[in-house]
Amino acid sequence: MDTTTEARTEKRRLKREITKAVRLWANRLQLQEWRIRVEFTTFGSEDGYGSCKCLSSYRTALLEFDLDRMPPHEDVDQLVVHEFMHILTMPLHEYAALGLTPVEIERLDHAAERIVHDISVRIVKLVAGKDFPALLFKERAEDAQED
Ligand SMILES: [Zn+2]
Repeated sequence: MDTTTEARTEKRRLKREITKAVRLWANRLQLQEWRIRVEFTTFGSEDGYGSCKCLSSYRTALLEFDLDRMPPHEDVDQLVVHEFMHILTMPLHEYAALGLTPVEIERLDHAAERIVHDISVRIVKLVAGKDFPALLFKERAEDAQED
């Protein structure tokens, strides 16, 4: 197989794996009543490789993943549970949007990102027995200190 074919095969595998993990974790985390759509897209200038947009009052969520930006050996369970924690913490953002300044919203987003990460790491450890170092978050905390 040439590298392009290999990359395409790997992308197809990842798409299947992510879609399967979304169904599995939606059941495990009791999000069955949510309408969760998964899309694979290109983020352009946005950060990261996973994103969650949702309307909590309508129990509708769109999870988007940019497979080109995804680091090799990304753990799909961790990725999906992380985005699901964004679904569950969304009321915080919806409430904050009503009265916070842009700077306050940025701080809240950062704190929420940290909470989402810390909780998802613990859930994946408890349920799937996988251990993840808090590395990802150390990097972000350093970024924040530069402000
Ligand atoms: Zn996140």
